[in-house]
Amino acid sequence: MKIAFIGLGHMGSGMAANLVKAGHEVRAFDISTEAVAQAVAAGAVVASSVTDACRDAEAVVTMLPAGQHVVSVYSQVFDAVPQTAILIDCSTIDVATAREVATQADAKGFAMVDAPVSGGVAGAQAGTLTFMCGGTAEAFARAEVVLNPMGKAVIHAGAAGAGQAAKICNNMLLAITMIGTCEAFALAEKLGLNDQVFFDIASKASGQNWSMTAYCPVPGPVPSSPANRDYQPGFASALMLKDLTLAMQAAAQANADTPLGAKAHALYDAICAQGHAGQDFSYMIERIRRGA
Ligand code: NAD
Repeated sequence: MKIAFIGLGHMGSGMAANLVKAGHEVRAFDISTEAVAQAVAAGAVVASSVTDACRDAEAVVTMLPAGQHVVSVYSQVFDAVPQTAILIDCSTIDVATAREVATQADAKGFAMVDAPVSGGVAGAQAGTLTFMCGGTAEAFARAEVVLNPMGKAVIHAGAAGAGQAAKICNNMLLAITMIGTCEAFALAEKLGLNDQVFFDIASKASGQNWSMTAYCPVPGPVPSSPANRDYQPGFASALMLKDLTLAMQAAAQANADTPLGAKAHALYDAICAQGHAGQDFSYMIERIRRGA
């Protein structure tokens, strides 16, 4: 397929490379010439603009920072791409904007899905992302074929915006389990328990969860976790704060009570303001150990 790929940053570069490996003709555009050069080195064809990337495209994939970029890029995509193309936005953005852009696409006769991801930069490079998709069943079936080479799972969450809803609910839960895991280790340490001993018990008891068993915030028990490399991300606290901010916006709009989500937002806001935005989100253990 001819695929226009727009937004070739930390995530998009690896994703575009996997589409090239799958045999697609990928036309790459990014406002950063460095990002485009990297995509070209991985086998993509350079595009000089969104319009240039979209000409004759059968699919459009976008991986952009936030809702405002998605609105701006799709206003150009709609005027440039054939109506038969499937439009796929993989960026993490607010549910309301995702629905608004999908409504615009529908009004212009395009099939579109929101398809945010879980799995981070490592998953983008390895082609093992999980895609959470929102859109009609027909649009999802068409998007799935494009997304498969970039992921280990492509899941239909529901109508337009449902992918974004699933993503922010998942990441709100991830933040809460990480903070809870950090609290448990910090308290265990103060009560004289060894980290490894506490891990061996809790990972086999009812407190076990992904933040502990796959991403442990203390060095030692899970050798691959960022705690073992001075909290280099991984998943930076700034990105967790972004997702929690989206979750809090969505909760306010849906009139949903999220007391622990709000607390998690406040804690990540604080550690980012204290200069740790670039460190992995499991760095929360240091904030908990130190106290407010
Ligand atoms: P990034 O900043 O590295 O990449 C975004 C790219 O978009 C940049 O190269 C930027 O130049 C480009 N861009 C911005 N405006 C543009 C425009 N108008 N036209 C063309 N290109 C434009 O960000 P990232 O880490 O790759 O994240 C991308 C998205 O994926 C975000 O929504 C993020 O929340 C989400 N996400 C990131 C991770 C992660 O671990 N980094 C994990 C899951 C989801």
